Amino acid sequence: MSEYKIETKCLQSGYVPGNGEPRVLPIYQSTTYKYDSSEHLAKLFDLTAPGHMYTRISNPTVDFVEKKIADMEGGVGAMCTSSGQAANLAAIFNIASAGDNFISLSSIYGGTVNLFAVTMKRMGIEVRFVTPDMPDEEIEKLIDDRTRCVFGETIANPALTVFDIERYANLAHKHNMPLIVDNTFATPVLCRPFEFGADIVVHSTTKYMDGHATVVGGVVVDSGKFDWEKTGKYPELTEADESYHGVVYTRDFGNAAYITKARVQLMRDLGLTPQPLAAFLLNEGLDTLSVRMERHCKNALAVAEYLEKHEKIASVSYPKLPSSPDFALAEKYLPDGACGVISFNIEGGREKAMKFMDSLRLAEIVVHVADARTCVLHPASTTHRQLTDKQLVDCGINPGLIRFSVGIENVEDIIADLEQALAQI
Ligand SMILES: *Cc1c(COP(=O)(O)O)cnc(C)c1O
Repeated sequence: MSEYKIETKCLQSGYVPGNGEPRVLPIYQSTTYKYDSSEHLAKLFDLTAPGHMYTRISNPTVDFVEKKIADMEGGVGAMCTSSGQAANLAAIFNIASAGDNFISLSSIYGGTVNLFAVTMKRMGIEVRFVTPDMPDEEIEKLIDDRTRCVFGETIANPALTVFDIERYANLAHKHNMPLIVDNTFATPVLCRPFEFGADIVVHSTTKYMDGHATVVGGVVVDSGKFDWEKTGKYPELTEADESYHGVVYTRDFGNAAYITKARVQLMRDLGLTPQPLAAFLLNEGLDTLSVRMERHCKNALAVAEYLEKHEKIASVSYPKLPSSPDFALAEKYLPDGACGVISFNIEGGREKAMKFMDSLRLAEIVVHVADARTCVLHPASTTHRQLTDKQLVDCGINPGLIRFSVGIENVEDIIADLEQALAQI
């Protein structure tokens, strides 16, 4: 890990050119690599020599971006994936098999709810949802000897609740499990969950990290701090992998055991691979991430304050508003800001909410969030329409809720747009 501050890491970590080499990360658009001897290649297949073998598993362009993100989060290694969904699947499947279960906060992204509750269930892995108001004793009743990890989102999409990372890290560690945190909305610029005890971080890089609505992607980052051997609970990491001639990840890869296994086993077998060009574009986004986050946070707070005073707005959710029930958590975990996403309810419910959305001119209706351009979405009729009313409520979503993703335009233009749209309802 470099000693630079996060703003510097955004630009300087990862790819560092040598004398006379291209300044900008090159796109290694190649599926294959060439070797001087078949013996060297055999070693790669046995994982006894480092190097690239096939782009489904690793690629130099992707590798440099992984190194940058690992450094930004303060981890020992990272694995980029084709999407945020793929990252969440890999993060959990890496340490859970059929018959196992895991604990997840219920206020998380709707796509993740589907992945956990429907698709992973078909793989024999059971999710046990808990709500933020559940005391530890209640959660502990759901933990048994097949419970493999605890999962939550730093800033929940779209409920915008703030995850009490330290509390859940302590709870997970007490039961010899890692805490996995989806840090998509906060990004490592606003919060680095490893500093609060999280063990694994995941992202949908599609959101702020890319930031320009250009490429879908995800990443899994390993802190290297969880002691898999000590717990005796994770044989997939501490016992021989027969698909690699008896490699033992903890013995052979030390504190990078988790992320190495994720790559050489899950990437190899599931092919959740990002393309080199996608990694290049993501890297361009990362370069400016810290500047964009600063503006997103400043603009969002101004918009939240404006909306809170408006008589046609029933409620506004933004963790940095002193009126937010999560304000204290936001002060602790997100001292520099709580990203650009705001949610609010319009007086008059669903119908007025739709009319309001249709009246916006600058803010565009798109299936996206956390983009440089201001955009807006109605979760109940779109991203979360697969969920039941009960699941909606558990995710913190009212049928009239609007998710407003404040961009980095001039904030006066954004507020003027809201003003004219609210005047029309
Ligand atoms: C968007 C999102 C995902 C899914 O990521 P994709 O890149 O769309 O697959 C997962 N978690 C969170 C918090 C998200 O916002």
